[in-house]
Amino acid sequence: MTHTDGNLLAGPLRAILGVDLTTAQGTCDGCGARGPIASALVYGPEPGLVARCPSCENVLLRIVQTADRAWLDLRGLTSIEVALA
Ligand SMILES: [Zn+2]
Repeated sequence: MTHTDGNLLAGPLRAILGVDLTTAQGTCDGCGARGPIASALVYGPEPGLVARCPSCENVLLRIVQTADRAWLDLRGLTSIEVALA
């Protein structure tokens, strides 16, 4: 299965949260690796987007969207560090 990088998450995360999290630093719940969300390995888009850790392939986050709803699962991330303007 092929994947793209985490930059693919920019639009969906902005639509859900109102901010671009691709430059945010995420910490993997599986191995503790820390890096930009943009470095995640992203699979999808059907049935949803799945972002995996580039170090251990743990699922970091999932996004499923319909025409009028979105579901965001962040359970694979211990934390997300966002730089404030
Ligand atoms: Zn990991």
